[in-house]
Amino acid sequence: MENSDLNFSESRRSFLKNTSLATATFAVPDFALLSNPFAGDKKSAGALPWYNRVTRWGQVNITEKDPSQYDINWWRKFWKRTETNGVIINAGGIVAYYPTRIPLHYQPEYLQGRDLFGELCKAAHDDGIAVFARMDSNRAHEDFYKVHPDWFAIDASGKPYKAGELYITCINSPYYNEHIPAILTEIATLYHPEGFTDNSWSGLDRDSICFCNNCKKSFKDKTGNDLPAVKNWDDRIYRQWIKWNYDRRLEVWDLNNRTTKAAGGVDCIWSGMNSGSIGDQSRSFRDIKKICERAEILMLDHQARSDAGGFQQNGETGKLVHGLLGWNKLAPESMAQYQALRPWFRLASKPAPEARMWMLEGIAGGIQPWWHMISAYHEDRRMYHTAEPVLKWHKANEEYLINREPVATVGIVWSQQNMDFYGRDNANELIELPWRGMTYALLKARIPFLPVHADHIDRDAKKFSVLVLPNLGLMTNEQINSVRRFVQGGGSLVATGNSSLYDEWGDRLTDFALADLFGAHIAKPSNVNGQAQIPKLAGDAYHTYLRLTPELRRQMDGPHKADEPMIAGSRHEILSGFEETDILPYGGILDPLDVDSFAQVLATFIPQFPTYPPEKAWMREPKTNIPGIIINTRANGSRIAFLPADIDRQFGRMNLPDHVQLLGNIIKWAAKDSIPLQVLGTGLVDCHLYKQQNRLVLHFINLTNSGTWRQPVHELISVGPFNVKIKLPSDIAGRRVRTLVTSNTVKADVSKGWCEFQIKSILDHEVVVIG
Ligand SMILES: [Zn+2]
Repeated sequence: MENSDLNFSESRRSFLKNTSLATATFAVPDFALLSNPFAGDKKSAGALPWYNRVTRWGQVNITEKDPSQYDINWWRKFWKRTETNGVIINAGGIVAYYPTRIPLHYQPEYLQGRDLFGELCKAAHDDGIAVFARMDSNRAHEDFYKVHPDWFAIDASGKPYKAGELYITCINSPYYNEHIPAILTEIATLYHPEGFTDNSWSGLDRDSICFCNNCKKSFKDKTGNDLPAVKNWDDRIYRQWIKWNYDRRLEVWDLNNRTTKAAGGVDCIWSGMNSGSIGDQSRSFRDIKKICERAEILMLDHQARSDAGGFQQNGETGKLVHGLLGWNKLAPESMAQYQALRPWFRLASKPAPEARMWMLEGIAGGIQPWWHMISAYHEDRRMYHTAEPVLKWHKANEEYLINREPVATVGIVWSQQNMDFYGRDNANELIELPWRGMTYALLKARIPFLPVHADHIDRDAKKFSVLVLPNLGLMTNEQINSVRRFVQGGGSLVATGNSSLYDEWGDRLTDFALADLFGAHIAKPSNVNGQAQIPKLAGDAYHTYLRLTPELRRQMDGPHKADEPMIAGSRHEILSGFEETDILPYGGILDPLDVDSFAQVLATFIPQFPTYPPEKAWMREPKTNIPGIIINTRANGSRIAFLPADIDRQFGRMNLPDHVQLLGNIIKWAAKDSIPLQVLGTGLVDCHLYKQQNRLVLHFINLTNSGTWRQPVHELISVGPFNVKIKLPSDIAGRRVRTLVTSNTVKADVSKGWCEFQIKSILDHEVVVIG
């Protein structure tokens, strides 16, 4: 086969052609040769706008002292050696880094009349590099507050909300309607940056209510009500307040875009930064789905991993946001090169393996790298060496990293509305733990999956053979109907915990909306005989178990003998691997359910009993008919597993291998033979599979390291070999297999539509191209 795509010694011209996001064959201008190739009037006809072309970003977050120590020539060389083709430069907002004429727009003492933003913007344009002018519109200094106290957020007693010395601006005030647009217009007119971004654009977060007159009036005008006095998720007016806050952030998004486009041209977009955590998006009223519908490029401020989420969360973030944005747009992410968060050391280099792994997971998930440092002058110079090899590799292999579609047959359903109105103030327990447990179980089982928004089930149904609802409590009627259509069309369903038990406001229903599919119903009160009412949610696990049915060794009644023979009767394949046990640790609390006759119960609940003293640790009630795992197969072949026992949450909390084995078995049963990837070999490895026009691209991220569960990683530990089997789409022969990190040709066997090969060793990551 001819295949220029497998010719890895590419010319610059073919590189530029391949980096264009469209498949059309028009020439993309070689922007390194032009002074400001991004300006609309210099763009050649048919070329993609800059926000579809700039794929490696860099940012020095300028401190107030930097105007006295910013060596622009040094940084130009750094841009070049890191192959950076876009930079984010602080312009205005809290601090102006240029001689602004906007009243009260604060200039730091060290600026001394220097036009630092202007100099940097010109240097970038001279080097063919795109500029995002970076704003921060969240706060202002005291002198500003004194002139316009009515532009700032206040609490119920009229006291301003503050963050350190700074005052938090009110998102409903003229600060956002007039002051910020004036700054955007001034910067666009003077400097022609390609676009604008904003570090912190969404105002006060959900934990505080602003009682200023602007808010009072706006809420009254929009809803007819007075502001809610306090947080109360059950109060209709508080719920309206949540929605009103979301709407206002979208208004600000649209206002800023109108402003920058009017001043800077149609491609001069404004794209505020967003988090890769849906919980963070909820707490700051940023509707990631509606934002992605508006954004030409999504700027992710998601700098480092949490201990709970791990590196893998970044690969997941890439797939989640591209599911909303589309895979033809870009989503760069700020990747801290300094020690971020736990704890902050703004001026110390992050250990290189830690920074590198976060970057590589993001790239595997479809994110574009963006190195991020605080200050333009560092005494810890080690951070200057972390991004360079990653970005050089990215540039050399870019054609494989963008312009591709993920391949997965398992979709895990989520929505921000569920995070808000079902998760409320307990989203970690209700939403994030089950999500993390389910996605980590799939990672461990090396089953490719994709996050799918609950409103996109119909849109994406063709891709999937299984939908997973990980305690997706809140579902709208439309979403319920979409799941029904999916199952009617032959798709399988795995649901856990309280999935479909709450309406769109998070009010509990009398039965699961999907009860008929689950084959299980909330029991009528008469069937609930004296269950102790224990709160279901807990910071720690309860001492409870699941009894696997049928038991294989022992009857519950009568005396036991250690050498009792196996009882006849085989178990369901979902319980395979557990032949030497009749019970599994569980950790949650279950209530009785009424089970339909067509459904089969594979495990039942064993209620809590003492753990201490050991003499008391015996089962008071060894057997109940309270179901923990219920399955059924529909007439059309759809397989349905409902787990009232929220194994996903328990796994997210306790990390027990029994739970991951059980979840993996359940997903594999539901997926039948649709899973397109098998990877055998020891180690914790995250696999991401994509298809491009005539090839497959498979990423491996080696998560086996000295800091797997606690940042930072101190050293990388290589794993391998791995035996890999990939199901081939009909248009891919699968006979040419190459690696992009170790740069080898790999021997592959193709048989019955599957391609089989071995990867000998993976240190941090590997990317395999199958053509
Ligand atoms: Zn206000």
